[in-house]
Amino acid sequence: MAEKKVGEMNRNRTMLSAAERNLVAAAEEFGRTEVASNANRWERERRQPLEAIRKAATLGLVRIQVPVQQGGLGFSFACKMHVAEVLSRHDMAFAFALINTHNSAERLAKTGPASPRERLLPRLLSGEILGCAGLTEPGAGSDFAAIATQARRVDGGWVLNGEKAWITNAANAEVIVTYAQTDPAKGWRGIASFIVEASKPGFERRPAFELAGAHAIGAGGFVLKDYFVADADVQYGPGEAFKHALGGINGARTYVAAMACGMLEESLRLAIRHGEARRTFGQKLIEHQGWRWKLADAATDLEAARLLCDRAAALIDGEADAVLAAAQAKKFASEMIVPRLADCMQAMGAEGLKDIYPIGRHILCGRVANYVDGSTEIQNDRIGALLTKEYS
Ligand SMILES: Cc1cc2nc3c(=O)[nH]c(=O)nc-3n(C[C@H](O)[C@H](O)[C@H](O)COP(=O)(O)OP(=O)(O)OC[C@H]3O[C@@H](n4cnc5c(N)ncnc54)[C@H](O)[C@@H]3O)c2cc1C
Repeated sequence: MAEKKVGEMNRNRTMLSAAERNLVAAAEEFGRTEVASNANRWERERRQPLEAIRKAATLGLVRIQVPVQQGGLGFSFACKMHVAEVLSRHDMAFAFALINTHNSAERLAKTGPASPRERLLPRLLSGEILGCAGLTEPGAGSDFAAIATQARRVDGGWVLNGEKAWITNAANAEVIVTYAQTDPAKGWRGIASFIVEASKPGFERRPAFELAGAHAIGAGGFVLKDYFVADADVQYGPGEAFKHALGGINGARTYVAAMACGMLEESLRLAIRHGEARRTFGQKLIEHQGWRWKLADAATDLEAARLLCDRAAALIDGEADAVLAAAQAKKFASEMIVPRLADCMQAMGAEGLKDIYPIGRHILCGRVANYVDGSTEIQNDRIGALLTKEYS
């Protein structure tokens, strides 16, 4: 009989088609064989595993939501979310980098201007190049409307000047959907988005950030100095870019919450296995009520977070308003993940500290989940703004 994994029996995948479930199974296998065995080494080497991203691309993991006509699989958001969850059992940082490249391909395929789409999409889909989205700057994160990267109108296009920071995949990406201000007096209505290519003049990559962990994310930045973008490479003009950025963020919030679920599922599995094997005071650890209760809390949070993710995913796939559901999924998952991972580590005693287990890496990635695609406070802000409409 195949090895049973905690969560596998009760993870509801009924929202997926048979073909989508097959892809999730392929991602699970890839996670077990490629990611689990290498993630510690990638972290020690403090680098992005480009070779593993390319390998994942050969399985179709960069094509999930890309339309079939554009060379993709045409699958649902829910499928991408489940892939993100199973890969994160072993390394959320890797999963996040991969999904960000997927999203660049999806964006180019669905809404990208024709010229960069033809030039860049096949290379993204094959995993040859990485993609990312650059909103954040050294001086503006949560307050995205305050970005200072400037876009100046010139004959035939725009000239961009400014700096981006904390961008996933920026350490290696070739394609960056870059947000810039065309008219500071207009605030968010002045922001437009542009297809920027790292190999073109005026693009200077900054060294990747040296972090406490999660280096597979390739978080870094770049400077644009008189970088010319032809009109044919403008993704969204002023007024449209901001709205589209906020539209896409519901999906990102939901899969980040699912990534937290993947990390917790794996950590619970390890803790429970340890509790079945290790004895104290004449009993297995798992037979001590006090030992079990912490993990009962963790298991309950895991299932609650999954339900919130599934609810948000159904709204996203149904093209309904998912702002509240996505914010609630991300808030809940980000707030519970670090303490619950710590509970799993504690349940293993000193053994849980060893780096043969992913729990230490997961804890750092659990912190990352509290910032990416809107911090936990910003989720509170979204939920707070909808209190009257939804609950009064
Ligand atoms: C690993 C990693 C990858 C990332 N990838 C990307 C990417 O691909 N693309 C991209 O554009 N960005 C990316 N980011 C940036 C991320 O979106 C920002 O970190 C996030 O938006 C928060 O911005 P900040 O870090 O500048 O914090 P700030 O905006 O400076 O805020 C600092 C703190 O104050 C809180 N705060 C701010 N305003 C309020 C308020 N009104 N009320 C209460 N609290 C508030 C914040 O929640 C935060 O805790 C990434 C970040 C990390 C860590």
